[in-house]
Parts: sequence; C-alpha cells; structure tokens
Amino acid sequence: MIVSQLEPPDLAAPQQPRFDTRRQRQALQILAALATAVNALVLLNLSRQDDPLQQVGRALPGLLISLGLLLLTLWPRVNMRSLQRVIVSVLLLWLAANVQNVMVTQRPIASGLLIHLILTALFSFTWLSLRSAVMMVCAGFGLLLLATFFSRLPDVPGLLLTGFTLPVIWYLTQHGLAMNSERIRSETLRTLATTDALTGILNRRAGQAALDAAVSRYARTPHLLCVVLLDIDHFKRINDSLGHQTGDRVLVALAALLNAGLPPGGAVIRWGGEEFLLLLPDQTLTQARVRVLDLLSHVRQMRLPGVQAVTLSGGISVLSQAGSASALLDQADRSLYDAKAAGRDRLHSAIVPGTLE
Ligand code: GH3
Ligand code: MG
Ligand code: MG
Repeated sequence: MIVSQLEPPDLAAPQQPRFDTRRQRQALQILAALATAVNALVLLNLSRQDDPLQQVGRALPGLLISLGLLLLTLWPRVNMRSLQRVIVSVLLLWLAANVQNVMVTQRPIASGLLIHLILTALFSFTWLSLRSAVMMVCAGFGLLLLATFFSRLPDVPGLLLTGFTLPVIWYLTQHGLAMNSERIRSETLRTLATTDALTGILNRRAGQAALDAAVSRYARTPHLLCVVLLDIDHFKRINDSLGHQTGDRVLVALAALLNAGLPPGGAVIRWGGEEFLLLLPDQTLTQARVRVLDLLSHVRQMRLPGVQAVTLSGGISVLSQAGSASALLDQADRSLYDAKAAGRDRLHSAIVPGTLE
C-alpha cells in the first residue's frame, strides 16, 4: 500500500511500533539468553556449595533446557506459534520434573518452584486459548499441591499466595490482550478514515488536514510550500472505450508514479475521482515546477497493457502568493482550468501569466 510521506497530524496519531512477529522473536531470544545466563550463574553458585556434584546435577537440566530454547528461538524455520507451544510445554514438564524431585528427596519447596508456576501461567494466558491455559495452569498448580504434600517443609502460605497470583495473572493478561486488540482496531479505523481504498494514497479528508497543517507550518516561509492540482486528460474516453476496471488500473498506476516522485515530506492525495493534489513542501515555485514537469513527462511515458498514453493537466500555486489553504486550492484549480483550456497535457500557474512550460 502506498503511504504519502506527509501525514495529517490531527488524523494520524504518532505510530507506535507494533509488537510484530519479528519483534516477538527478538524479545524471546533476549529472554532465552537471559534464562541461559541466569541458569549458568545458578549452576556456578551451586557448584561452590557442599556436595557440588549433586548440586550441579540439579541445576544442569535448567541450563540445558534454556540453552535449547535459545537455539529454537534462533532457528528461523520454527514459527512463533510452535515456539510458544514448545515453551509452555517445556515449562510444565520442567515443573513436573522438579516436583518429582521433591517427591523423591522430600526436600523443602524452593521459591524457584513457585516462580516456575507463575511463569507457566504468564506464558499460557498470553499465548494459548483460555481453555488450554486454564488446563495448563490447573495441571501446574496440582503438581505444586502434590509437591507440598510430599515435602519435608511444606510452604503452605507460599502455595496459597501463588494460588492467588494465578487469577491475577489471568486478569492482567486478558486486560493487556484486550488493550492490544483495541489498539489494532483503532489503527485500522484510522487507516480506513484517511486512506483512499482504490489507490492506497491519502483521501481528501486526510489531504485537507495535511494541507491545513502544512499551511500553518510554512506560515513563516510561505515561498517554500507549493500545491499542484492534477486532472487526467480525457479520462472518460478510457472508461468508455476500455471499461471502468481499466480506468481503475490507470488511477492506481498514476498514484504510485506520483507518489514515487514526491520530495521528502511531500504528499499525494486523491482529491476527486481522477484528480490528484500534490503537496510539495520545501520547494520554491521554480523547483516545484521542474519536479512536476518531470512527473508529467514520466506519466506521458507510462505504458499500461492495452492503454494509450495517459496525460495530465495541472495547476500550481504557492503559499506566498495565495496566503491561505483555500486560496492555494482556488489558484491551483483556476490554473488547472486554464491548462485544460490551453490544450491539456501541461502545467499552468496563476502567478506568471501564461504557460510555465
Ligand atoms: P478532461 O480532460 O476535461 O478532464 O476530460 P475527462 O474525460 O477526464 O472529464 P472529467 O474530468 O469530467 O471525467 C472524469 C471521469 O472520471 C468521469 C468518471 O466516470 C471518471 N471516474 C471518476 N472516478 C473514477 C474511478 O474511481 N474509477 C474510474 N474508472 N473512473 C472514475
Ligand atoms: Mg476531473
Ligand atoms: Mg479529467
């Protein structure tokens, strides 16, 4: 989709970077790297305690698992959905292995086990369907209950607090997901409200806002804001002889070509049926004129299958002569009319009498 470079400030809120699949993967890579580093530090710390072999044996699986997850996140062939399922399953299995260890050794329940369940709940409620997440979390809590039953030093308050944390996690993740879908919905609505459905460039509503914003921005340097109104010559003939679909294709191709020829910060707007408005900031009238004449010659050379050469007529105006947004449009419109009357396929200006060619 073509997006004009000059966004209307009141319609286009500042774009927030989306947490897209690429970013999600990068975030998971960082998390897996952190988990690997933490597990390595835990292992180092345990190896200094009594009976280092047994301690290292306890910590080594954690290090290997986080290392395995890190490799999985780095492997581009594993898609995000599979990655998420693998991570939740591994967390649950890891929890089960720890609980089994507590059952065998009857050792006290470490806080790590509770944190483990909280992590499982966080990932499950964020990534899985509510039903699967509830099943995963209930299974995890059941395992923890089992460990408490077998532990030499059961941590009942810790277990109760962890149990309370789980619905809180459910609430917060659902809240976050709802906010995210609301953000996507309003972004989609904003795009629909400001974009022309056929060509993908700014529509008239967004174009008017962009023009008004540009006029206020260039109030102190009005000789540097030019506006051009362009109209396709004899467009009815294309529609009548080749059909409206071909006419639509011409409009789409022209919008892309005009958009590609914009100066930095410029915008192309679908002003009417086959009329385009160009906003050319930081251009003197002479510079803008040269640019537009170049564009018109590119349009002349544009070839679409089965369509004869298309030409445009245009009227150009500059803020220093017009003084306001409506006067800019009015002068450009009058010049466009002159260009049509003078034989089409040309650019006229209200300021210098006669053609600018
Ligand atoms: P002129 O050189 O005087 O501008 O001649 P023209 O044939 O282009 O005349 P006019 O501007 O009056 O005609 C505009 C035509 O554009 C009429 C309308 O059917 C057509 N049109 C407007 N919007 C669309 C559109 O979205 N798709 C198609 N295919 N045609 C459109
Ligand atoms: Mg017209
Ligand atoms: Mg026309």
